[in-house]
Amino acid sequence: MNKSERQLLQVIPSHETSDGAGVKLRRSLGQSPQARLDPFLMLDEFGTDNPQDYIAGFPAHPHRGFETVTYMLDGHMLHEDHLGNRGDLKNGDVQWMTAGRGIIHSEMPQQLEGRMRGFQLWINLPAAEKMKPAAYRDIPAASIPVVQMPGGGVAKVIAGTLQIDGRGTPGPVQGLTTAPLYFDIGLPPGGVFIHDLPPSHNALLYVYEGDVVVGGAAPRALLRHSAGVLSAGDAVTVRAQDNSKADAGARFILLAARPLGEPVVQYGPFVMNTREEIERAVADYQSGRLTA
Ligand code: FE
Repeated sequence: MNKSERQLLQVIPSHETSDGAGVKLRRSLGQSPQARLDPFLMLDEFGTDNPQDYIAGFPAHPHRGFETVTYMLDGHMLHEDHLGNRGDLKNGDVQWMTAGRGIIHSEMPQQLEGRMRGFQLWINLPAAEKMKPAAYRDIPAASIPVVQMPGGGVAKVIAGTLQIDGRGTPGPVQGLTTAPLYFDIGLPPGGVFIHDLPPSHNALLYVYEGDVVVGGAAPRALLRHSAGVLSAGDAVTVRAQDNSKADAGARFILLAARPLGEPVVQYGPFVMNTREEIERAVADYQSGRLTA
């Protein structure tokens, strides 16, 4: 059976913005309510060598109704919540946090200088799971499989299962309702990544080093610091641009998940299905009952 190849449907260039107490970042998904891809709500890239861009961190703030996934490429961040949970995020580590009914936490840099680089992704929860108790998964870099691919590419498998040459490599995160797939892919110049994607899933990629072209038959360029939303289909082809100046190839994250198809009402760090639920979240937070 012929695979139907996903094409690059929409490009969402990231915008520079700041969040928390003044952390500079690039926001692609989530820069407006239209710039979402169900169930993905927001994608921020942070990446800087200048401590002034990150040192203020993200002091205590609430979340309700979704999951946050922090992938630290470089740097050291300490996560603490109102229950006393602590988690250190260092180079290559991932924290998968299910805010559920509520969490109040801080995310603070633990370095005074040097490079801080990574991503924070927000994934929506289905209505039936928005009020479940908060939960964390701290995933050290050592438990994230690294797969050397034919042609010199490298894949890190954070969620879902990578299939290369008939061999499956499951990542540490499996079995969620949205069945997310989260890969970090590095390609040499001209290198190609071809992978199946479930037809049921929405999918995008975000390029953070080099540039790529998406699609084998009708390729379209996707430049660094941009998210590319993919059309429907069951496979994707991504090629690293081979221009003579860039000898470093390209790196991108590939995200896919089953859409929820439910109404989304967001007010800052609260993402629910109705206005009434948002008003309830705000009232709960103000009265100290967000997480009770
Ligand atoms: Fe947060």
